[in-house]
This record gives sequence, structure tokens and C-alpha cells, in this order.
Amino acid sequence: MPTPRLRFAPSPTGYLHVGGARTALFNWLYARRYGGQFLLRIEDTDKARSTDDSTRAIFEGLEWLGLDHDEDVVYQGANVERHQAHARQLLDAGKAYRCFCTQAELAVIRSDAAVRKDAFRYDRRCHRLGPDEVARRVAAGEPSAVRFFMPEGETAWKDLVHDTITFANKDIGEGDFIIMRSDNTPIYNMAVVSDDIAMGITVVMRGDDHISNTPKQILLYEALGATIPQFAHLPMIHGTDGKKLSKRHGATAVGDYQHLGILPGAMLNFLALLGWSPGNDIEVMTLAEMVERFSADGLLRKASVFDPKKLEWMNGQHLSLQSAEEIAPRLIPYLERAGFATADDLAARREWFHSLVDLLKVRARTLDEIVHQAEPYLVETITYDPEAVAKQWKDPAASAALLERTRAALATVEPWDPTPMEETMRAFAEGEGVSAGKIFQPMRVALTGMTVSPGIFDVLVALGRDRSLARLDAAVQSLRR
Ligand code: GLU
Repeated sequence: MPTPRLRFAPSPTGYLHVGGARTALFNWLYARRYGGQFLLRIEDTDKARSTDDSTRAIFEGLEWLGLDHDEDVVYQGANVERHQAHARQLLDAGKAYRCFCTQAELAVIRSDAAVRKDAFRYDRRCHRLGPDEVARRVAAGEPSAVRFFMPEGETAWKDLVHDTITFANKDIGEGDFIIMRSDNTPIYNMAVVSDDIAMGITVVMRGDDHISNTPKQILLYEALGATIPQFAHLPMIHGTDGKKLSKRHGATAVGDYQHLGILPGAMLNFLALLGWSPGNDIEVMTLAEMVERFSADGLLRKASVFDPKKLEWMNGQHLSLQSAEEIAPRLIPYLERAGFATADDLAARREWFHSLVDLLKVRARTLDEIVHQAEPYLVETITYDPEAVAKQWKDPAASAALLERTRAALATVEPWDPTPMEETMRAFAEGEGVSAGKIFQPMRVALTGMTVSPGIFDVLVALGRDRSLARLDAAVQSLRR
């Protein structure tokens, strides 16, 4: 078995789509699992639609995900001379031929086929031209495309996902398909095969939507006398409504999820399960664990469903698994952007900040949620969530009085630790003749402005004595205003 060489070959005509990222991930996993190489090729032959911005977005997306590639990036557009040489090799061997048909002539063949209710197939009229005539017309500067001469028979391959797929050659595409345009630029299938041969690709793994290209590509490999790689066609990704994933379903760009506070590890884990099952009901995995478990046998045929709720759930799982040290560097830019803290400020109280992250990460599904939950611990003055106020401070006068008594009780706590806090607060609740919850809920609003937070003693510890007491004072004041 030669060392596997795989590639991700996006066309830079837009952002990095989750489907593209999934393809990149599976190629990467396969290469890393079997000690092979993962190469990156930017398919920028379509100059009109390719942009540098898209290329940059693809690099950034892959970098964020941590899918590193081996060797230099290959730009397809830089290899047109080789694509032309490969086409010439096929012409010289009589496996391809020049076609001088104009668009108008082709339109007639097409409409005749439509009248007969047949699919369009090129009628090979240019294949019948004698070599002298071809030479004369080329010399006269008449434009010509190059068509591949479709042999009889059938083309089959053992797909790593679908098992054997067979096409009768007479059913492939439009018959003798074009490999070079009349301006001597390659058609996709010619460029891809030429590049995959030059890059020594042994496994081509890509979306199901390319299945119809594969027999054409196999025929090109055969005609060029090159080794045919293995093929794996990954299942489509659908939205939760069972339709092909599109913008209608929400964010489909990897970058969007980065901005929404998804961790790259969670995104990778989620993408890995779109079309792959590691078995044994395993779901939550680090990238290293995915590499360890990856195998083509686990690749699924049926379309997979992109469920954003599952992605959030997965992110929550990864947040719980990661240490505060790992999460903090990703979180800090979000906190800075929100204006809650600066990186320097957080570095100065690193230990406190990490314990805050540990406190909040277990309840959050996204970095955004952590940011929201972290606000009361980072900013000076908090705002009260109107819903929390309506629910927990129904009677302003009574609430103010209760919070004032709570503050007085808390002020006696010494040292400022959970055990004495709890003893004091239980005794206080008993004295008030109410359950602890009746004390803690209004207090939580005073301390955080929210109805949801970590345990109340954790909140008090995170805020510290002075700030906790000041918050209670501020709440009393605001209720009496
Ligand atoms: N550039 C093609 C695409 O974006 C990929 C072709 C391939 O993987 O063979 O779909």
C-alpha cells in the first residue's frame, strides 16, 4: 500500500461552506489516520468567479479548524500548461479529437435531440474529419475545442462509501465530452485529473455531487495511462427539513460559527458526525480521538442532517471538557469586543479569571453565552433584566427591606467562604421564616441582574465581599428610588 495522499480542492468562489469543511476534515482524518499527506489545491481556473477574498476565507477557515496541510498549496490556474500537455497527449494518441462545431451548430444538434425526446449527445461529426482537413482548419486559425473520444463499454469503480458504482459509457454525460475549450483552457475534469496525477493523489474524497464526474475522470486516467486513485463520495448534507443545506437554513459559513462562539473542536466533532459513525454510540471526541477512530468503513451513505441545536449541544460538551486555560484565549477577544474587560486586565487577575471561566463554562453552550454570563463579574455597574425584576422583586418596598436585611446578615460572614456563607444564610432564612430560595432568588438579581447564574455562594465568592455588599446596597437604592 503506497502512503495515502489526499487533497482538499475547493473552488475559491465563496466562503468556506460547512460542506467543504466536512470534506476537508474527512480527507485530513484519512491522511492523518494512515500516515499519509493532506494537500490543499485551490481550483482557481474559473477566473471570473474566483477571488482572493475567497481564497483567504478558505485558508482562515482551515486554520481556525486546525486542519493543517502538507506541502505547498497548489493553485490550479498555475498549471494550465500541464493541462494542455495532457490534452495534447490524448490528441496525439487519438483518444481525443478537435471539434470545430460552433455554438449554433451544437444548438441544432441539441434541439433535434429535444424533438426526438432524447438526451443531447454529440454526434461525432468532427471525429469524421480527415487529418489534413483538421490541420488545415487549425492552421487557418479556426477555433476548436477538444473532445474526449468516449470508448464503448462501461466504467466502474469500487467507491469507499458506496461500494461498486457502474456507468454504461453510453450514458455518461453528453457522449464525447469536452476537455479543452476553444480558448485552450481546460474543462474541470481535465484540470482535476491532470492535477491529481501530478500531485500523486491516491484517494479522492469529495461530495456525492461529483459522482457523475467520476466515470469521466476514470476514463481520462485510463487514456493517459495513469494509476486510478480510489474514490470516496461523501453523502449530502441536509437541513433539518430534509432539504439540501442552504442559506435558508441559517449560517452555512464556517466563519459564521466562529463568530457565534463555537469552539473549533466542537465544530470539527459535529462535522465529523455528518457522514461518519465511529461506532459504539460514541459522539463527543477530540480531534486526536477522531484520528484514532477514523476509518473509511465508518463512512455512511445516507444524507446527514445539519442540526444547529446539536452543534450547540456539542459545543457545550466541548466547553465542559476543556480547561479554563484552553478556553480563556478564545474567550478574551469576545470579552474585549463586548467592552467588559481588556486582555491586560484579565492577565493581571489570571487565577480569578480562570476560576470564573470554570464556573461559567459548565452552564454555557457557546462562548457568547459565557460572555453574557460573565458580564456581572467584570463590569462595575450592572443592569437588571426587566423579567428578573418583575419576577423576583414584585413588591419593591418589601424587596428592598429584605435585601437590606440580607446585606446585614452577609456582612457578618467571616471568612468570605462558602461554608460560613451557607451557615449564615440558612440561619437568616430560618429567622425570616422562609425557605432559602426565597432569599437567594432576589439576591441573585441584586448581584447579577439575572435570574440564572452559578450557585449563589459561587457568585458571592467570584464577586468578592466588597462588590457583593455594594451590589446589594445598589439594589436597595434602586428599589427605593
Ligand atoms: N473544486 C471542486 C469543488 O469545489 C472539487 C473537485 C474535487 O474535489 O474533485 O467542488
